[in-house]
Amino acid sequence: MQEPLLTRLSQFYRRTQAVLVLAILFPTVFTTVVGIVSLALYSEVKDIIFGILTITFALGIALGFIIVVLLTRKAQELALKQTLFLANVSHELRSPLTAIKMYAQTLERGPTPENTQLCLTQILQATERLDRLVQQILEWKRITNKTDVIHPVACNANLPASDVAEHFLVAHPDVADRLTVDLMADPPDTELDRDSLERALFNLLENAYKYSGEDRQIGLTTRLVAEATRVARFFEYRVSDNGPGIPAEHLAHIFDVFYRADNNLTTAAGVGLGLGITRSIAVAHGGSVFVESEPGRGSCFIIRLPLTHSKKGNGAAKGHKESP
Ligand code: ADP
Repeated sequence: MQEPLLTRLSQFYRRTQAVLVLAILFPTVFTTVVGIVSLALYSEVKDIIFGILTITFALGIALGFIIVVLLTRKAQELALKQTLFLANVSHELRSPLTAIKMYAQTLERGPTPENTQLCLTQILQATERLDRLVQQILEWKRITNKTDVIHPVACNANLPASDVAEHFLVAHPDVADRLTVDLMADPPDTELDRDSLERALFNLLENAYKYSGEDRQIGLTTRLVAEATRVARFFEYRVSDNGPGIPAEHLAHIFDVFYRADNNLTTAAGVGLGLGITRSIAVAHGGSVFVESEPGRGSCFIIRLPLTHSKKGNGAAKGHKESP
């Protein structure tokens, strides 16, 4: 389980820090007191010099310690996140591998007309899950290398959304009547990296799928957003769901890589990379991604990109709906 691991590691770091604080605190306080006493009871100049030197030494140690603690805290956070990530990845690899092995063994024992199709479907689903995980890790590695994150070219702004809807339905045919796609009429052309943006949208759709229950309703919409000047400047991709929503305390963190609002590995699959990747792709386009969500009222994730190249600017404005 992830939570005890996280708790154990945090406790270990806290205890180590407490021991260090005590190890530094006592000699520092003692040395400072000696310095103060020496200054207070001085009888010769050398007492004053000794007092000042002792206090300066003690303060220097205290300051050095504070700097070291601040610097190592970041490293500790990173180490914790990486440990969690490894635990998540191991779990995510094990589940589909176990499924593949189990269904392959069933076929090996003797395929029947009834179980063959079921086993093959399950093996294919598990393979796709593994494939998605590997793709996500590779994508994250590519993005964190910071070079060539995207290659924008001018294209119809709706294209990533229509492409992703098609691919999402291939991956999840069961949501054919639960996915509502509402793309704006006469969209503008803008400069974007179609593949990257499609991956970002796929992550959002995948989350909408896995965090919503059996009665899921998923929405994918696109629209132009005007600023106060009423000139359309941004293009928005919105992915909404009727899932459990996200508690306020998690909202500020869910776009951080490795962060999972639900730390229980037995619930929805994931390794905490999807939203981090999505944010990097939106930012690489000069845009942003944000979420509107409340517990019990579903979530709506919004990728907002600036229009950088709008050949059909006037025509596009006809189909424009203002953002609420
Ligand atoms: P993963 O899904 O692999 O955990 P993500 O980076 O995609 O990683 O998401 C981070 C966290 O944000 C998730 O663990 C989940 O708790 C929360 N989250 C993301 N999308 C949704 C959603 N549509 N509904 C509820 N919670 C969500």
